[in-house]
Amino acid sequence: MTQKMLSEAEGYDMLRKYDLPVPEYQIVKSGEDAAHACERMGCPVVMKIISPQIVHKSDAGGVIVGIGSRKAALGAFTKIIDGAKAYDPEAHIEGVIVEQQAEPGLELIIGGRTDAAFGKVITFGMGGTMVELMKDVTLRILPITDEEIRQMIKEINAYPLIAGYRGSKPRDEEDLVRIITNVARFFEENGHVVEFDINPIRLYEKGACAVDARIIVDDDIKVVEKPVRTPVPMEYFNPRSIAVIGASQDSSKMGYAVMHNLLHFPGQLYPVNNKRSEIQGLKAYPTITAIPAPVDLAVITVPAIHVPGVIEECGAKGVPMAVIITAGFKEMGEGGKALEDRVLAIAKGHGTRIIGPNCLGVIIPPKGIDTTYVHQSPKPGNIAFISQSGAIINTVVDWSLAKNIGFSNVISVGNQSDLDFLDYIRYVGKDEKTKAIILYIEQITDGKGFMEVVSEVAKVKPVIAIKAGSSRRGQAASASHTGSLSGSYEVYMEAFRKSGVIVVHTLTGAFLAAQMLAHPKRYPKGKRAVVITNAGGFAVLSSDYAERYGVEIVDLPASVVDEMNEFLPEFWNKGNPIDLLGDATEKRFEKTFEVLARHEDLWDIAFIITFPNLVLTSEQIAKQILKFSAMTQNRLVATLLGGDSMNIGRDMLKEHSIPSFEELDYTYRVMGRVLWQKFRVKAPGLL
Ligand code: ADP
Ligand code: MG
Repeated sequence: MTQKMLSEAEGYDMLRKYDLPVPEYQIVKSGEDAAHACERMGCPVVMKIISPQIVHKSDAGGVIVGIGSRKAALGAFTKIIDGAKAYDPEAHIEGVIVEQQAEPGLELIIGGRTDAAFGKVITFGMGGTMVELMKDVTLRILPITDEEIRQMIKEINAYPLIAGYRGSKPRDEEDLVRIITNVARFFEENGHVVEFDINPIRLYEKGACAVDARIIVDDDIKVVEKPVRTPVPMEYFNPRSIAVIGASQDSSKMGYAVMHNLLHFPGQLYPVNNKRSEIQGLKAYPTITAIPAPVDLAVITVPAIHVPGVIEECGAKGVPMAVIITAGFKEMGEGGKALEDRVLAIAKGHGTRIIGPNCLGVIIPPKGIDTTYVHQSPKPGNIAFISQSGAIINTVVDWSLAKNIGFSNVISVGNQSDLDFLDYIRYVGKDEKTKAIILYIEQITDGKGFMEVVSEVAKVKPVIAIKAGSSRRGQAASASHTGSLSGSYEVYMEAFRKSGVIVVHTLTGAFLAAQMLAHPKRYPKGKRAVVITNAGGFAVLSSDYAERYGVEIVDLPASVVDEMNEFLPEFWNKGNPIDLLGDATEKRFEKTFEVLARHEDLWDIAFIITFPNLVLTSEQIAKQILKFSAMTQNRLVATLLGGDSMNIGRDMLKEHSIPSFEELDYTYRVMGRVLWQKFRVKAPGLL
C-alpha cells in the first residue's frame, strides 16, 4: 500500500476548504523564526513537532502549549527538537508548527476510516489525549443524513456535557452538526483520503476549533467498481431432477451420505458413478451426460482435481446450477484459489451457477431436498438459516430436532465463488415458506450490496444475525484513534442496525428472536412495558433484567391502580411490575388484562410471567393471554417458567404466534435486541 500521512499543516489546509474551523499557523525551522511567528500571531501560541515518523506528537514531548513570549518560543523550539531526537533518533524532522492557541473547550473527536466491507465510515465522540481510555464514540457508514448526525451527537455518553450539565452552559450543538456534515462531505469528496482523525476539536458555547488533524491519504487508491451481479432465478431452488456426481455405495464416503439424504427427494434422482451401475437401489450413470433426461441440479462430491472436468460436463449437459460440496479450493491458498477460478470460468462459459465450493449445500425440507451429509435431515418449518460455517449447520440441525424447530431452508454458503450471501438472502426473502431469516456471518465482502439487499428483505421478514469476530484479538493494529476505536465489528453492528437486522450473540438467542418476531405485529411500537406476574421473585428480577436490556417499566397512574384495587387483594403491590400474588387465579389475570387493554395507550409491551402452581394451570393462563391479545394492539410476551408441566400452555401460545419463553433473562434480552434495532435503545446488557 502506498499510504502516507499528511502533516498537521496540510491537514488544516484541507479542512479549511470545507469551512472547518482551524487555527492560524506557521511552519518554522529555527527558534528565531518561531519567536517571530509568536509575536506576529499574538501570544499565547502552541508549538508542535512536524515529523512523518512521529504520529502521536504528545508521546514524543512534541507539543508545548501556553507559549507566552518571544523567549519562551526560543526555548520551546530547542526543547521540541531535542525531545523528538531523543524519542526517535531516526525520525526525519521537518520543522515545528507554531499555531494560535485555542481557548479551552470540550474536546471531541471526529474521525473517519475506510472499512474493507462497508467503505467510508465516520466516527464521533469524546476526544483529547484520553480517547482510547474513555472509548465514548459512535459511528455511521457514509452517506449520512442530517438526522443521523443529530442522533450521533446525542448518542455518546458524554452528551450531557454538550447539552449543558450541572449548571454549565450548553455548547454550540448546531455548529457541531454543521461541522460533522462538512467533515462527512470532505471525506466523501476526497477519494484518496482513507483515514483521518480530527482530535481534538474543541467545542465552545459559540463555535468550535480543531487543534489537530491527522489525515492519511493513498494516491493509488482504486475506485472499486460495484460488482456486476446476475440474479439467480427462483426456480433454480426448485429442481425437479437432481444428479449426485460421486454418489457412492461405500457408507464411509461423503458421496454416500449426500446420496442417502437425497433419497427422500420426490423428483428424479440420478446417481453418477463411473464404476457401478447401481447405487443405493437406483440406476447409476457413468457420467452426467449419459443421463437421458434434463438435470436441474448437480451435487458434486468428487475430489477437487476432478471438479473442473465435472463442471465442464455439467455445462455441456445444460445443468443450470451445481452444488460443489468438495473442499480444497480458495480456503487452501494460492493453488486452491487458481483451481476455484478455473472452475468458475468454466461454469460461467456455460451459464451454470455455482453453490460453494467447500460447503454443505442446501437443505429445503418442504421440498424434500437435502444435499448435505448431516446425519439427519431437519423438519420442514418457516425459518431460513444461512450460514458461513458448516459445523454450525450440523449443530443447529441436530439441536432443532430435539427442540421441534423446523426450517424452510438451510444454506451453507461455503467459499461463495459465485452465489453469495446476497443471492441467498434475496431468495429466502422471496420464498413463501420463509417467515424469518437467521444469518451466521463471519465476513462479508460486498458490504454495500449486503445493506441494500437486506434492507429490502428486512422490511417484510425479520432478519437476525450472529456475527462472529467481536474479539479484539487478531484485529490489525491501527495508526489512528479512529482505526482502533471503530473496528470492523462495530461497523458491522452499525450496518446491521441501519439495514434492519437484529443482532444476537448466541444460536439460542437467534431462534428466540425469530420467535419473538414471528407474530404478524412484529415490532412493539415503543419500549414502555408492563409486567404481570404471580411470582414476587420474578417481579423483582424483571425490573433488573428490564434495566439491563433497555426495556422501560412504566409507572401506573393512580387511576389505573384504583381500578385494580377493585378486584385485587388489599395488599397487592400497587405498582408495576404488577404482582398478582401466588394465589392468583385465572380470574385475577383476566380482570387485570381487561384493565390494561382499556389503557393500552400507556404501554407498548406486556410481559406475562407465571410459575407452575395449583391454582393456575398453564392452559388457563395461555387462554387468558390469547384473550388479552385479541383485546390489544400492543405486543404480548409470555414467559411460562418451569419444566414440562407448562408445555400445554406454551404450545397454545406458539400456535397463535405469541412468543413464549422459558427463561426470564432471555425474554428481556431478546426484547432488548429488538428494541436496539428499532429504536437504537442502548443498555448495559446489550454490549
Ligand atoms: P497529538 O499528536 O499528541 O495528538 P495534538 O496536536 O493533538 O498532539 O496536541 C495535544 C494536545 O494539546 C491536544 O489534545 C490539545 O489539548 C492541546 N493543543 C494542541 N494544539 C492546540 C492549540 N492550537 N490550541 C490549544 N490547545 C492545543
Ligand atoms: Mg491529537
